[in-house]
Amino acid sequence: MVFPFKSVEDFKILIDEEHELFRKAVREFVENTVMPRWQEIEQTNQIPKEIFDAMREQGLFGVGFPEELGGQGGGQLMTAILMEEIARAVPSLAVAFGVNHLFGVPILLFGSDYLKKKYIPPVARGEKFGAHANTEPAAGSDVAGMQSKARKVNDHYIVNARKVFISGAEKADYFVVSARTVPLEQAVKETGKRWWGITVFVVERDWPGVKVGQQFKVMGMRGEQPYEVILEDVKVPAENVVGKENEGFKVVVTTYDYTRIGIASQAVGIAQAAFEKALNYALQRETFGQPLIAHEMIIQKIADMYMKLEAARLLTYWAASLADQKRPEFVIAASLAKAFATEAAEWIARQAIQIHGGYGVDTEMGVERYLRDAIITTIYEGTNEIQRLTIVRQLVRQAFGLKI
Ligand SMILES: Cc1cc2nc3c(=O)[nH]c(=O)nc-3n(C[C@H](O)[C@H](O)[C@H](O)COP(=O)(O)OP(=O)(O)OC[C@H]3O[C@@H](n4cnc5c(N)ncnc54)[C@H](O)[C@@H]3O)c2cc1C
Repeated sequence: MVFPFKSVEDFKILIDEEHELFRKAVREFVENTVMPRWQEIEQTNQIPKEIFDAMREQGLFGVGFPEELGGQGGGQLMTAILMEEIARAVPSLAVAFGVNHLFGVPILLFGSDYLKKKYIPPVARGEKFGAHANTEPAAGSDVAGMQSKARKVNDHYIVNARKVFISGAEKADYFVVSARTVPLEQAVKETGKRWWGITVFVVERDWPGVKVGQQFKVMGMRGEQPYEVILEDVKVPAENVVGKENEGFKVVVTTYDYTRIGIASQAVGIAQAAFEKALNYALQRETFGQPLIAHEMIIQKIADMYMKLEAARLLTYWAASLADQKRPEFVIAASLAKAFATEAAEWIARQAIQIHGGYGVDTEMGVERYLRDAIITTIYEGTNEIQRLTIVRQLVRQAFGLKI
């Protein structure tokens, strides 16, 4: 036993030549089409439409979505590689891509055939965009604490919701939205469970009462800033419920089990970019008559950056590979990868700035942006504190069969 796994074979990453061919193709696309525009994206806080058009032409929006639903196929590992390569150039573009999965994964895992056939193909073809509206002003980590409401009236629901920090909301055509169909106090009284009584819906942007509100001006991920999303008496047909009524909490948290592998991948891409820049600079820049790389303290920084980078990549690919094999242990691996890779990216970005000296904090150099972006990855899709809770809960459950 390799606590809490059963065998050393559980650490196998099922990766092959196909993944490498795909990575090469994506890198070429990103280096030609995305990388040359990073400065423009930072300055305008907008991702140019031509980049989305080019991604659509390449079929990249379909990666990770099943072929029978208009996607390109490819599992978690393929998606992780795509996210990493995009984030290496412009991390906010990986967010713009990732929100489609945050929209699609709950439908693929829990949705009816009707929902799958109606909403997945246009998103997988890149013709429509999705977003995921769960966080509320007073309920982020504590999903069960949400106050948005939905009540059933004949064959539809009336939804009133206020959601904050919703990535991709501005261009979204569709949203998955969570709301309470049973008030929290009643849910606790009736079932003893805080999580019970939440329902998830697919809502279309142009339905009456759906509004995209204020933009949140966050420190990084320029080009993909989150927005407020408000639903006022929105009429949602009953067939647009994702999964079962009152069991939406499971829909939301199970979605993040998968999509947080994408956040780990974003972090690996950011860490890779920051590391490459720092290494190149350390080879070129001279101080005291020697290149920086000849100074022992710089050597140590580079070595530590590289150790963390590769450890982050291995954890991320491992989590993705376990998810592709449909192994339940992927949940703990995904949390390990998300927490480790995002903190590694933050640390590596910080060292990259230090190695660049004054140029490191010059926004024109494109180094400090990695730190701003990396910090955000430690917060969304379950903060790293919440990942640590998941890790220990899963560990104790798997190893001892105990619930804590
Ligand atoms: C740029 C950006 C994009 C986002 N995009 C989306 C999106 O597309 N869709 C969406 O629904 N949400 C999105 N979010 C919201 C994000 O998921 C939440 O911000 C996050 O889950 C944390 O929730 P919170 O901000 O309410 O913090 P809180 O839950 O209030 O937490 C505050 C602090 O307390 C800690 N904490 C909370 N509970 C515990 C506990 N039990 N034990 C230990 N520590 C705890 C947290 O880790 C954190 O450090 C986005 C956020 C950002 C910044």
